[in-house]
Amino acid sequence: MLVSNSPPNRDQKFFALGVIAVLLGAMLLVAPFARNRLEGSEPMVLAYTAAVFTTEMITAALLLSLFAVQRSPAILVLAIAYLYSGFMAVPWALSFPTVLASLGLAEAGQQTTASIAAMRRIGCPLFLLAYAMLRGAREVPAGRLVPALIVGSIAAVAAVVAGVTWIILGNHDLLPRFVDDSRRITHVWMYVPVVALVLYAVLIVLLGLLGRSVLDLCLLVVICALTIDLFLLSFVSAGLQFSVGWWAGRLYSLTAASVILILLLAEAASLSARLARSAAAERRANEDRLVTLQAFSAAVAHEINQPLASMVTNADAGLRWLAREQPDVHEASAALTRIARDGHRAGKVVEGIRTTFSRRGEDHAQLNINQLIRDVLDCYRDECRAAHVVMQTDLDADLPWVPGNRVQIEQVIANLVTNAIDAMRSVTSGERVLLVRSTAMSAGEVIVSVADSGIGLPPEHADRLFQPFFTTKPNGLGVGLTVSRLILDAHGGRLWASENAPRGAVFHFALPCDGSPAALAKEPVR
Ligand code: ADP
Repeated sequence: MLVSNSPPNRDQKFFALGVIAVLLGAMLLVAPFARNRLEGSEPMVLAYTAAVFTTEMITAALLLSLFAVQRSPAILVLAIAYLYSGFMAVPWALSFPTVLASLGLAEAGQQTTASIAAMRRIGCPLFLLAYAMLRGAREVPAGRLVPALIVGSIAAVAAVVAGVTWIILGNHDLLPRFVDDSRRITHVWMYVPVVALVLYAVLIVLLGLLGRSVLDLCLLVVICALTIDLFLLSFVSAGLQFSVGWWAGRLYSLTAASVILILLLAEAASLSARLARSAAAERRANEDRLVTLQAFSAAVAHEINQPLASMVTNADAGLRWLAREQPDVHEASAALTRIARDGHRAGKVVEGIRTTFSRRGEDHAQLNINQLIRDVLDCYRDECRAAHVVMQTDLDADLPWVPGNRVQIEQVIANLVTNAIDAMRSVTSGERVLLVRSTAMSAGEVIVSVADSGIGLPPEHADRLFQPFFTTKPNGLGVGLTVSRLILDAHGGRLWASENAPRGAVFHFALPCDGSPAALAKEPVR
């Protein structure tokens, strides 16, 4: 979900309306001076055009890269609108008589600049209309077609602009009389704003009053800026070129060119921030998982290897005693006794692992379980959004402190949340809801439950869920729940699972606390 194609929220709508109000207010401020001529300002046209051209080219480039990812035909057409507008600005600026004179070229005809402007002003809303109509269109198939469309669009727009310019330059006598000899627009020009305004009105209806997406909302601001530009140019300044009103119109045009660019840059910034956050969360989760896994495997290896090695040695020895010509039953039975002893030792593996995990002491602190839940959920926010999972919490505000190891309890919550999200990935119907609840029990316990609306727990798996290396995931290790149970055992707690209604699973864990209601965990202590 990108900022540009997500629906606008209330704040964004208010912001857009605020921008439109400011644009309208600025026009009213300029209106009394609109017909004052700004003498000698004509060369500034080149600087203005450079700014518009650069802005529209960057916007087009960003839209084309968005198209390369999303492959939406509407985004391609929007990029084409910006390419067209940017390319058309170049012959427009170059056809000004003083610009041509300063470049040492012959003067263009009176109507050239206005005709190019008319083509630009009618062409842009036509492309925007095409964008509005294509929004629901199917994605372009991935593959070579996408780069071909990008290169082809750039080439086609450049060719169209060159063709239009060539026709306008070559047929000066046939051009409509848009400006008179004093370079003031005539009544013929009035068709241009009228047609453009009708197109803008249709566009606003098509986009929906406040837009379906943030991008649409920004386009409404663009249309508003372009409409004010047309008003300033055609009516308020009475068509007087290089007047205050005419230049104000250029500023509105530059504003219109920049709105989508600002949106796309904001989107790029928010995307990279999200990427950095999720990379950090992923790294942290991986480190936590690795630490627990290392501790777990070290404990298992340590506890099991010793008795196993000893059992093999004794079994070899026993076989040797029995393989003698005169089997020494006494020694063989001593070897078997030692094997039995080692077998008992191996049987205490779980106890040994518990000892490893229950290294109470300096690692233990008074924990605010609600804060731990919030911290863990923060790390999974982006993953949930990507998996279309709605995250909900129901945290008991009067939770007592819980003594425990912060990293280990966080690991337990993280394991349960990961499993819940994974369980919902393959569910296609209904809402995907992750609900984490904390409750203070009167029996001196805190209970945390992680509920999902995922695939649920088939009865045939019920007994095996907490067994080491049991997994139904293609890339699963099957140690998450085992480690979680070991950690909770070491804390004197419990972990169990139940069915959720109407579907899904709930994993609960209980941790003992001192039970004193006075020890309310209002402040985070970690
Ligand atoms: P892994 O993450 O490698 O699967 P776990 O011990 O975390 O290991 O989980 C073991 C198995 O328990 C999972 O593969 C899955 O089949 C099942 N399981 C765990 N949590 C859930 C859940 N919320 N819903 C359904 N099945 C689950």
